Amino acid sequence: MNDVVIIGGSFAGLAAALQLGRARRKVIVLDTGRPRNRFAGHSHGLLGHDHKPPLDILVEARQQLARYPSIRLVNARAESVSGAIDDFCVVTDDNESLKARRLILSYGIVDQMPDVLGFAESWGTSIVPCPYCDGFEVAGQHWGLVWSGPQSHQSARLFHDWTDKLTVFADGHDIPSDIQADLTHRHIPVVDGRIVEIAHHKDHITTVILDTRRNVAVDILFAHPRNKPSASLHQSLGLVTMDTPTGIVLKVDERRQTTMPGIYAAGDLTTPFLPSVTQASSQGAMAGIFAQQSMLV
Ligand SMILES: Cc1cc2nc3c(=O)[nH]c(=O)nc-3n(C[C@H](O)[C@H](O)[C@H](O)COP(=O)(O)OP(=O)(O)OC[C@H]3O[C@@H](n4cnc5c(N)ncnc54)[C@H](O)[C@@H]3O)c2cc1C
Repeated sequence: MNDVVIIGGSFAGLAAALQLGRARRKVIVLDTGRPRNRFAGHSHGLLGHDHKPPLDILVEARQQLARYPSIRLVNARAESVSGAIDDFCVVTDDNESLKARRLILSYGIVDQMPDVLGFAESWGTSIVPCPYCDGFEVAGQHWGLVWSGPQSHQSARLFHDWTDKLTVFADGHDIPSDIQADLTHRHIPVVDGRIVEIAHHKDHITTVILDTRRNVAVDILFAHPRNKPSASLHQSLGLVTMDTPTGIVLKVDERRQTTMPGIYAAGDLTTPFLPSVTQASSQGAMAGIFAQQSMLV
């Protein structure tokens, strides 16, 4: 019997494993090697690892975990989960059945690319979601923001700390008149029409092509496509989720336990606001510690 099976071995899952390994608990980490930021050339904002390729950070983390004999890293997908506290069973796509007393879910989320020509190809380079992650490198340049709902108003206000050249693309949304007035007051032009194509020239230079036949060039485009959890294991377990403007996250308590005893969760799968590598690592570490403390005799 393992103490913990961790499903998803990226920033959150490996941080959980590190704490559990240091506490000499027997841990298996299952991972399919597709972290959300794998499209980005560099990861920013993680203390000690700023401006490093995200996959390099993860390779280094895995190498460091090799010090801990009770941690086993497995390249496999968790296909199903059953059981209850002290007696969970995870079955992998290699048909391995893994027993564990506790589970940590850290399988992250998938950004769902809109059906717009060139969007997916530009994701992570000239189309990005987060100014804290990618804003510094393009500060002062011409930014575009794809409107995705009322929450985009806050993005428009936020971006002013990086640039005073912002264009909003309504992309078919009916932006309320009071918000339109505020954008005008801030000298932020709003371009009507639906985006039909993104012409990606090279890093950070994009032309937004609209169904009105207008083309608008920007240096970088910020967008918040809808996302969904990378797996549906939480659904089969009946775990409670919460809605956010872009998708759902798992509900966890202050000890990172989900609504099912013995199942903990961390990372983007649980983060409704400003998900980041720093948050995922911190939450993963705490999930590992709380899972371990729940097994004390
Ligand atoms: C374009 C882009 C750029 C970003 N840049 C930054 C940045 O500069 N700085 C920053 O702090 N944040 C950045 N982020 C956010 C960052 O990527 C996430 O916050 C972070 O990756 C979340 O870590 P996580 O461990 O929760 O999930 P993830 O890193 O997404 O990892 C989840 C892991 O679970 C695995 N998995 C999924 N399903 C299964 C399964 N069934 N069985 C086993 N394994 C499974 C996946 O393969 C993956 O390895 C960026 C995000 C995007 C989209």
